Amino acid sequence: MTRDLWLEAHSYLRPLADLSALVDHAAAGIDIVDARIPDWDNYRQDFLAGVPLLSSADAAVDLEPGGRMAAALLERLASGTSPEWFVAETRALDADLRHSPNASRRIADFLLGDETLAPPFPGLLRYLAWTAAARFLGPVVTAFDGWRDEDRWLRRYCPTCGSLPAMAQLVGADPGRKRLLSCGCCGTRWQFKRTGCPFCDTDSQRLASVAIEGEPVLRIDHCESCGGYLKTYNGEGNETLLLSDWSSLHLDLIAHDRGLKRLAFSLYQFEPVSPT
Ligand SMILES: [Zn+2]
Ligand SMILES: [Zn+2]
Repeated sequence: MTRDLWLEAHSYLRPLADLSALVDHAAAGIDIVDARIPDWDNYRQDFLAGVPLLSSADAAVDLEPGGRMAAALLERLASGTSPEWFVAETRALDADLRHSPNASRRIADFLLGDETLAPPFPGLLRYLAWTAAARFLGPVVTAFDGWRDEDRWLRRYCPTCGSLPAMAQLVGADPGRKRLLSCGCCGTRWQFKRTGCPFCDTDSQRLASVAIEGEPVLRIDHCESCGGYLKTYNGEGNETLLLSDWSSLHLDLIAHDRGLKRLAFSLYQFEPVSPT
């Protein structure tokens, strides 16, 4: 499955696909600041205690350079011309952060849950800044994947950044079939139990599944206890496309219509300009 074939079958996703491509292209033009790979022995104790890598003082992975890359991405996008609403919002963000002392530090803190930064378009900032910061973190995420013993994590939040999963993926064949959760922010994928809700973490709670007409490899799993749902890719080989979140936005709409709640951040949930 290629992006073009996917868009042929889902033409309503094209504006989002185009925007995502524009942002990715701009991000690819930003110099990547080298990330320091942590000394894993220093982090081991926090890892076993369930502290995500970026929250661990002992691992000491600083996201600030990612914030710097995010500021550079904002500046670049703010000089664009279309789409109009996007350029206007990006300019507002760029102008707001430009006056903020330690902007790169504050962006990094914002991505990790600090609420003292009050940008004009927080949803858009989260999307753009994670796009840049994930490029900075790439080598750390890869090294972490290589070091991490998945059986010692199995937690409902991302082992790297602590976010709740945006999607899930079923891989392998029974009896060894596994469920991976996928972080929509930093891009980490990690193993979780096959059944069970990653939002309310009730062991006994099983997820119900909704099949989607015309989508053999995608489905919605939802929890009857908390109403949270997880878009699930039931296949392998097309991770970049099918775990990218924008490519399954129609599933979010179906879930919304069923009264289910998206409990993970959606990087594509931009706030409309509020009427004054
Ligand atoms: Zn993450
Ligand atoms: Zn639940």
